[in-house]
Amino acid sequence: MSSGIPVRCSDSELYAHMLDILGRLVGFDTTSHKSNLELIHYVQELLAGNGIDSELHWNEARTKANLVATAGPGDGGARGVVWSGHTDVVPVDGQSWSADPFTLRLTQDAAIGRGTADMKGFIACCLAILSMTDHARLTTPVTLMLTYEEEIGCVGARHLVEEMRTWQGRVTGCIVGEPTGLDVVVGHKGKQNHRITFTGEPRHAALAPQLPNPIVAAAALAGHAGSRNEEFRTEGPHDDRFDIGHSWINIGRIDGGVKPNIVPESCVVDLEIRNIPAHACDDIAADLHGHATGALRDGMRALSDVAEVTVEQLSDTPSFAIEPDHAFVTFVREAFGATEDPCYVPFGTEAGLICGHAGIPTVVCGPGFITEAHTADEFVALDQLRGCLDRLTSLPLG
Ligand SMILES: [Zn+2]
Repeated sequence: MSSGIPVRCSDSELYAHMLDILGRLVGFDTTSHKSNLELIHYVQELLAGNGIDSELHWNEARTKANLVATAGPGDGGARGVVWSGHTDVVPVDGQSWSADPFTLRLTQDAAIGRGTADMKGFIACCLAILSMTDHARLTTPVTLMLTYEEEIGCVGARHLVEEMRTWQGRVTGCIVGEPTGLDVVVGHKGKQNHRITFTGEPRHAALAPQLPNPIVAAAALAGHAGSRNEEFRTEGPHDDRFDIGHSWINIGRIDGGVKPNIVPESCVVDLEIRNIPAHACDDIAADLHGHATGALRDGMRALSDVAEVTVEQLSDTPSFAIEPDHAFVTFVREAFGATEDPCYVPFGTEAGLICGHAGIPTVVCGPGFITEAHTADEFVALDQLRGCLDRLTSLPLG
């Protein structure tokens, strides 16, 4: 009969240790465009203090790294249960914080600071447990996986997909600790950002009838997206597990032109696609790209040889779905004593890459709430952190 994770301290010592670690983690400014190496080295040292080796997987410029560390009986490369978190946080620019965002503040019932909810609170819980675990008594390994640049499109996790694929058969499953209020989440939509740029010739508006107009082409693309959206709404595909049960293209920004008496030289369209798992985001994107570089470009080219349309994909967070009665979902829910049904969330996580691309059974479950993430005075409730420690240590791995 297996029991929870063997930890060499009392619950209250573990909780105090977790808050100390959270203070250190918040103190590293790991805004996505900055290096995460100071934080990674701190984690590496903390784990080494308990005899746990870390592997680092670097980005090309070696300014950032993913960290993978396995505790317990890792014979034959076993990875056991993976705890996954991203180390980066969103910028604080333009937000009005009541104190330094990178200094942890504790109130009676909350921990305040950038990243406390998303998702250094979860990472602090994982680190507190792993640095106190008696791994000789673990019967199943626990692997910590920390990534960089999640907030700008799961960049770090994408670099780990090849590595994670080699874990198949040696891994039980993965818990992604994004803030779900500790509910066990089994699905979310996918998200891609794209930029489409229309270019023509900047000329006197008197010549406008003879020239392509990039703004008009951009507006036509927006119209095309609008009619696709109506099809998604009325014809589907539909997925009633989500509050908004279909895919959607959001035209988020259109920027072009100078003034009324000049034919615009260019116009940029930034858009976001959010897809349900059964509706391939790549297909929606291919249709938009095809319309822009096909009919719309042809129309512009008919008036100017220099007219051009370029398409770029800026980010990709794949959708995530696992069967709610999958053995790993049941394993986690039973250990956590979950009574509510597995649920679905409207935000994206690395679970789509870990589950869909790397083939590792995954759930999303972590302390705090998404409404508290990315905000000024971001916080996580202390009882959520306590609940997270309880749940993680109750996994039957000892
Ligand atoms: Zn996050």
